[in-house]
Amino acid sequence: MISFPLVQSSPTLNPAASATSTATRTFLIPHHYHTHKLAFISSQFSHPADLPRRLNRLRIQAIDAAQSYNYEAQLVNRFSQSTKLKIAIIGFGNFGQFLAKAFIRQGHTVFAHSRSDYSSIAQSLGVAFFFDTHDLCEQHPDVILLCTSIISTESVLKSLPIQRLRRNTLFVDVLSVKEFPKNIFLQHLPSHFDILCSHPMFGPESGKNGWQNLAFVFDKVRIGNEKSRLTRAETFLDIFKNEGCRMVEMTCAEHDKYAAGSQFITHTMGRILEKLQLQGTPVNTKGYETLLNLVDNTASDSFDLYYGLFMYNKNAMEQLERLDLAFEALKKELFGHLHEVLRKQLFGKSEESPRLVLAKLPKKNRTSLLPASTSETETVVNNTLVNNNN
Ligand code: NAP
Repeated sequence: MISFPLVQSSPTLNPAASATSTATRTFLIPHHYHTHKLAFISSQFSHPADLPRRLNRLRIQAIDAAQSYNYEAQLVNRFSQSTKLKIAIIGFGNFGQFLAKAFIRQGHTVFAHSRSDYSSIAQSLGVAFFFDTHDLCEQHPDVILLCTSIISTESVLKSLPIQRLRRNTLFVDVLSVKEFPKNIFLQHLPSHFDILCSHPMFGPESGKNGWQNLAFVFDKVRIGNEKSRLTRAETFLDIFKNEGCRMVEMTCAEHDKYAAGSQFITHTMGRILEKLQLQGTPVNTKGYETLLNLVDNTASDSFDLYYGLFMYNKNAMEQLERLDLAFEALKKELFGHLHEVLRKQLFGKSEESPRLVLAKLPKKNRTSLLPASTSETETVVNNTLVNNNN
C-alpha cells in the first residue's frame, strides 16, 4: 500500500474524506489498481500569501503517459498470474474486520462496503472502503465475500449491482448457517458466477490468539472447470490453510446438522448462563472458569447472530426441544431422589405408612406425589390400595 496525496478518482470512493478541508488530503490506495491514474495535490488556502506554496502543490505527481502499447494487457496478465486476490468484504462489522486483518497480513487487496461508515477503521487496516457498491463492483474484485448478519444476507445480496462484476466472480459467504446462503446464492446468482460456502468455526474472541487447528468448513457449491477459476477458489481456501486452520470439506446440509448439535447448543448454554450473571469467586474451579469463558465467547456475539443460528438452521428447533426435555428429565431425577430422602425422614423404617397415607388420598392426587420415573413404586402402591380396599 502507498499513501497518495488526493488521488483523482471517483468522488464516491470516500466522500467523508473529500469533505475535509485540510490542505493535503491523503487516501490509502492499493498501488496495483491505481498506479496509472493521475495524482494531484489538492489545496484550499484562505490567504493570498499562500499562493506560491499553493501553485507548487498543484503540480502533477504522476501520469500514465508513454506506457508501452500493451501496458494494460501486461498489467491484467500480471494480476491474473499473481497468487494474490482482490477480496471485497460486504458487511464490515465485527467478523468482517477480523477476517480482513488476516487477508491483509497475507498480502491480498481488500475492499469493504457496509451499511455503516467504517472508513476510518478500514483506512487504519489498509482496506479501501466504498460507500457505494457500484464503485466497489467496478473495481472487479476476484472474490465477493458476504460477512453480513444471517438475517440481512438475502436483502444485501439482492441489492448488489452484480452486472458490474466480471462474469465469473467468486461469491463466498462465511455465515454460521450453510444451507440458507447456498440456496439464496443459487437462487439469485446467474450460473456464470462461482459459489463457495464456508464457515470459519471461530470468531474474534476464540480466534484472537491465532487460528491454529481451528476448524474451517467449506462446500464448493459451484466452481467452473477452468483452471483459473479452480485456482482462485484454492487460493482463497489457502488463506485459512496458511493460518493453520483444520480444513473440513462437507456439504452445507451436513454442516447444519452438526452445527445445530454443537454450535447452537453452545451459544444457547452461553446465553442462559449470561442471564444468570455469573461472577468470578475466590474459589473458582476449572469447570467454573470454563463456564465463565463460555459466556465471554458467546455473549459478545450479536443477538442477530444467535437468532440467525436458530431461525435459519432447520435443525435448531429440535435441539432446543431436546435441551428442554433434558433439563426436565434432570429435574425429575433430582426431585425423585429428594422424594425418597423425605419419605425416609418422615416415616423412618415403616414402609407401610406412605402407602396408607396415599391410600387415603383422593385418586387424582396420588400420582402427583409419586416420583414419575418409579413405575415400580406405583405398582406397589396400587397393590397396597387393592389390599386396603379388600
Ligand atoms: P452479525 O451481527 O451477525 O453481522 C453484522 C454485520 O451484518 C455487519 O457488517 C452489519 O453491517 C451487517 N448488517 C446487519 N444488518 C444489516 C442490514 N439490515 N443491512 C445490511 N447490513 C446489515 O455479526 P458478525 O459477528 O459481524 O457476523 C457476520 C457474519 O459472520 C454472520 O453471518 C455470522 O454468522 C458470521 N460468522 C460470525 C462469527 C463470529 O464469531 N462473530 C464466526 C463465524 C461466522 P453494519 O455493521 O454496517 O451495520
